[in-house]
Amino acid sequence: MKHYSIASVPGDGIGPEVIGAGVAVLQALAQHSNRFSLDVTGFDYGSDHYRKYGVMMPADALDRLRGFDAIYFGAVGAPDIPDHITLWGLRLAICQGFDQYANVRPTRILQGLRSPLRDCSTADLDWVIVRENSEGEYAGQGGRSHRGHPEEVATEVSIFTRAGVARIMRFAFQLARSRPRKHITVVTKSNAQRHGMVLWDEIASSTAAEYPDVTWDKMLVDAMTVRMVHDPASLDVIVATNLHADILSDLAAALAGSIGIAPTANLNPERTYPSMFEPIHGSAFDITGKGIANPVGAFWTAAQMLEHLGEMDAAARLMNAVEQVTANGPRTRDLGGDATTVQVTNAVIAAIEAGH
Ligand code: ATP
Ligand code: MG
Repeated sequence: MKHYSIASVPGDGIGPEVIGAGVAVLQALAQHSNRFSLDVTGFDYGSDHYRKYGVMMPADALDRLRGFDAIYFGAVGAPDIPDHITLWGLRLAICQGFDQYANVRPTRILQGLRSPLRDCSTADLDWVIVRENSEGEYAGQGGRSHRGHPEEVATEVSIFTRAGVARIMRFAFQLARSRPRKHITVVTKSNAQRHGMVLWDEIASSTAAEYPDVTWDKMLVDAMTVRMVHDPASLDVIVATNLHADILSDLAAALAGSIGIAPTANLNPERTYPSMFEPIHGSAFDITGKGIANPVGAFWTAAQMLEHLGEMDAAARLMNAVEQVTANGPRTRDLGGDATTVQVTNAVIAAIEAGH
């Protein structure tokens, strides 16, 4: 019997509500498994920690998290604290500290859910977006001169390294190879951005030559938004920069039905450090404390975490249970229902127990 130690960082807003639900579901799965058991240790990092101690997480946080098999993360961000403190002080600090350079976002239409696209079904929309997660437009480089003066200039410098682009490209082609369609679309903006984006194009071509069994094409990011809406069935794996994939994956989540259902993995593919799993949505302060947050994103995230740990059967069992519930209800308000987080969670646990 395997044993996994999971660190949970529920964070801000609805984070604790959905991660609490996800931990209950993980424990139900473990209880009915003869393959693995797990323990979950919670860490109170986030905006409350900042209000109390002046930092989002303590200086030794990465040392404390390092020994875990995976990190299960909620959300970060508070209306009264700037993003450069909350986001950079916690989520990005973990992603960078643990070199989680591959951000992986599967998107498909779960059973019973409807895409805002007419006549678009599960068969037409089944994508994985791979986002470069360590450099690019979010490298934090640049600055401001003559601050506040009419002649002020601000620069926002994107950093693309050959090594950084090559490793995400290889990761994405490898992922495409493992999927039935074996197709990948490389997204850039190399007509207007003539340095970093051209490097992306060159590395895409040379990587493609190493994967003759994977078909591929290139898209400019603006044309890509149109293709996602007009021809979703033509896409399979999508690889893009930190900024482009950030935007495309919000669009993808909306096309799949709701931002409340989509998952993300921040992977350190070499497994030198733990990887981190989080629903795509943010802290959603407009619904915090009401008990109506959709926990499905946190459940799908938990399934992604189980897959990363090698527990494919448990991941499949969890997604079966989730799709029974998305198909038959109860559903939360964002999916057109009126159920609470707890009602959806209990229904998923009941489906896990019934399916066993
Ligand atoms: P961030 O800056 O962290 O991305 P945000 O404010 O851009 O945060 P979210 O917090 O994800 O975005 O919220 C966007 C909208 O989606 C809000 O109206 C929120 O209530 C809704 N939403 C987000 N997550 C959920 C969820 N799990 N269940 C229901 N509604 C959600
Ligand atoms: Mg957002």
